[in-house]
Amino acid sequence: MFDHSRRNLAHWFALSMGGILFAFAGVGYCLSVEEQLRVFDDELFSQSKAFAVKTQYSLYQSQWRNQRGQTPVESDASLNGGLMYARWYNSNKQLLQFIGSSDGKQLTAEPGFQTIKAPIGSELPTTRTWVRQVTLPILEGKVLIGYFQTAVPMNSLRVGLNQARLFLTFGVPVTFGVIGITGWFLGGLAMRPSLRAYQQLQQFTADASHELRAPVATVLSNAQVALMPPEDPVEQRLRLQNIVQTAKSMSTLINDLLFLSRHNGSLAETGLKPVDLCEILRSLAQDFAVQAPAQKLNFDAHLPEHPIMLKADANLLKQAVINLLTNAFKYTPADGKVELYLFTQSHSAVIQVKDNGIGIPSTDLPHIFDRFYRVDTVRSRQTGGFGLGLAIAQQIVQRYGGQITVNSMLGQGSTFQISLPLKL
Ligand code: ADP
Repeated sequence: MFDHSRRNLAHWFALSMGGILFAFAGVGYCLSVEEQLRVFDDELFSQSKAFAVKTQYSLYQSQWRNQRGQTPVESDASLNGGLMYARWYNSNKQLLQFIGSSDGKQLTAEPGFQTIKAPIGSELPTTRTWVRQVTLPILEGKVLIGYFQTAVPMNSLRVGLNQARLFLTFGVPVTFGVIGITGWFLGGLAMRPSLRAYQQLQQFTADASHELRAPVATVLSNAQVALMPPEDPVEQRLRLQNIVQTAKSMSTLINDLLFLSRHNGSLAETGLKPVDLCEILRSLAQDFAVQAPAQKLNFDAHLPEHPIMLKADANLLKQAVINLLTNAFKYTPADGKVELYLFTQSHSAVIQVKDNGIGIPSTDLPHIFDRFYRVDTVRSRQTGGFGLGLAIAQQIVQRYGGQITVNSMLGQGSTFQISLPLKL
């Protein structure tokens, strides 16, 4: 699925960028041809003009004629600047004189520039080449007295244009290929977050199903035995209690999963109220202080007297701290100590949950906030943990733009710290 999307992305990227490239190359080529031709024409025009003004014209039998012998043009050798031919016509467009090759007795071309195929030299049979020809009217005052025509071969221009065409012929496909490869690479980059999210979702679904399978099997086997004719009512009752217990733990797991999926993403500003963190933690501390003696734990809360206000959903914040305190109580043996701290540091409110319990091995610390991650699976399951408590706490804290960190030493205890930005 992702490969297909990536191919599609690369395909459309290459097509669109390739289209733009072709359009630019085409326009660039046309502009370059136009510009080169303009320069070429300017040069041809100035050469032709220089050549034409050297010719002297005189009035002969009511006809203007260029004076043979007085013109500097007597032979092919006198054609300067690479001119191929020079032709003089009278005002009736009849050929008077030429150097190089003639093109009939009559001038057929209109004044101006033309690109034509013209013979090289005056001998027969002739080979033809592309030339740029210019025909200029010659005026004496305001009277038209004749025409002058000349041409230059377009070889130099054609060589330049051929080079440009060659460059485009090879350059464009190569660039197109590079665009394709870039598209494939960018497609991969663009797909990466979606791929990661998809893999996480797959993993999450697989883990959730795996976690639910065991309790469902327990409920099923207990129910099947309970359905048999009762032999011992005490055992029967035990089985039913087991079903209730397992169903309760399944319900916790389902609630946790729902929580994670519902509260995913960033927090909407609306619905958040200014809350006093001190007050929230004080009520929590009271609840845990009641629980502590039952687990033979010492519990202390160090909370400031003054309120610490921030904009939050009190229930969500409570949930995050409850998860940390529950873990501290779960993973601290009897006679251990659990402490809750609240203080402000620069622009943050800091909550710390410290215990001197079993601690976490350093190799597990980087994964401790991953969903379904448990250091000791057997022990966690016995204590009713699914490895979601810390993931939930982290998700809540991150939604408030805060951070949750841990410091732990195996056998010495752990300190979990939540920092929340103090903004109202
Ligand atoms: P669980 O529900 O299994 O406790 P959590 O996400 O809350 O899941 O915690 C993940 C794992 O981190 C636990 O399985 C436990 O091994 C370890 N852990 C969390 N808190 C503590 C703590 N205070 N002391 C020791 N280990 C802890």
